[in-house]
Amino acid sequence: QKSITVIGAGLAGSEAAWQLAERGVQVELFEMRPTKMPPAHQTGGFAELVCSNSLRGAAIENAVGLLKEEMRRLGSLIMSAADHNAVPAGGALAVDRELFSSEVTKRLEQHPNVSIHRREVHKLPLTGITIVASGPLTSDDLAEDILRTTGENALSFYDAAAPIVTLESIDLEKAFYASRYDKGEADYLNCPMSKEEYESFYQALVEAEMSEVKGFEQGKVFEGCLPIEVMAKRGPQTLTFGPLKPVGLVDKRTGKRSYAVVQLRKENQAGTLFNLVGFQTHLKWGEQKRVFALIPGLEKAEFVRYGVMHRNTFLNAPKVLKADFSLRLNPELFFAGQMTGVEGYVESAASGLLAGLNVWRRLNGMETLVFPPETAIGGLARHLEGSPSQSFQPMNINFGLLPPLSQRIRDKREKNTRIAERALAAIEEFCLREDMGR
Ligand code: FAD
Repeated sequence: QKSITVIGAGLAGSEAAWQLAERGVQVELFEMRPTKMPPAHQTGGFAELVCSNSLRGAAIENAVGLLKEEMRRLGSLIMSAADHNAVPAGGALAVDRELFSSEVTKRLEQHPNVSIHRREVHKLPLTGITIVASGPLTSDDLAEDILRTTGENALSFYDAAAPIVTLESIDLEKAFYASRYDKGEADYLNCPMSKEEYESFYQALVEAEMSEVKGFEQGKVFEGCLPIEVMAKRGPQTLTFGPLKPVGLVDKRTGKRSYAVVQLRKENQAGTLFNLVGFQTHLKWGEQKRVFALIPGLEKAEFVRYGVMHRNTFLNAPKVLKADFSLRLNPELFFAGQMTGVEGYVESAASGLLAGLNVWRRLNGMETLVFPPETAIGGLARHLEGSPSQSFQPMNINFGLLPPLSQRIRDKREKNTRIAERALAAIEEFCLREDMGR
């Protein structure tokens, strides 16, 4: 194959194209902006940051900081442009969005191995290896063609996700494991509430501040997936007969039935992350932290993802994708970016880096690579393949996706430093062992 098609020059597509071009592969990069604009974008520049100008935490004791450092070591274009165009932002890496995007655009435009086509792609190419990186706001025709290719129920167009918290931050003196009516394994963690606790939680919930709804996202609330605060506003008892119903849930330690129970369901196979069942929400992030901390057991909960309700085109990755970002049904089709079920600018770019690297390996007759589970980039990719497919929701990088240390360390900062050191050592070793083409 003479050249590789990359669809979309956002965070993921730009990175994927760069990784291939730098390894000597000719890339045909298709971007529909500025001729056709997705609803959140404003420019024709590549890697446009559609909202915040922050690439989040900079230090490696922070999971996204670690991911960024790993990407630097793997020759990431997005990280190089971000570092060149950083603006002071305390502990975060924030960028001048125009200079950042303009650097990414220029470096790709000037690359001898990249040909740029400013037009919309309506259908997936029928032959040849392709990387699809058309993002959370993929245009309609292409999204329909992807749905046809990946099969029924494999593509979501809207993300209504409940918050996710780490197991280690849940107070297990208060929360208890059980399934309703003791059916099956005791898979759920349950946070029981007395009448008084429920009432103060309820009051805070109905009074909490909601986040702004963008014009193109209005009218997108489905009856089967109502935000928890909308359900609560229908009446004080709606939740206790709905997602917070206490029937069939008894804490065996006390034998007591509660007035209401919040259930948490496992989010990953390792059981280190849990989501709050039925808590999809439009509340502001700070409000989620404040209000949900009123749930007994979640007073100190660490949120690895807040609840969101927004437009988002993403694949049911555990069902259709492999951890090398190729499609199970068609190994010539690779996906990258938010479409693969990762969440966030940095995570999207990281998946683009892996897709580009793996396409290069495939072209050169090598096995595709999945990075070690101890690394942030490996943990992220493995999460896509290894999550339960029934309830799959997009995910930011977080330390809950990496295996715990063998030794228990109480101090969180020290623990995270050790995890980060382990990750960087693993990536160095992996890069020496495997052919990365650079
Ligand atoms: P994009 O960066 O969107 O790139 C996809 C590209 O494909 C676009 O340039 C698009 O024009 C192009 N394209 C689409 N369809 C076609 C087609 N048919 N033919 C040719 N080109 C096509 N993440 C954060 O970390 N922080 C935030 O603050 C943040 N805010 C967000 C706000 C909104 C409204 C949305 C929707 C998402 C936000 N995200 C945020 C999530 C996510 O990280 C970004 O959307 C990120 O840009 C995803 O990268 P991507 O490469 O997958 O998609």
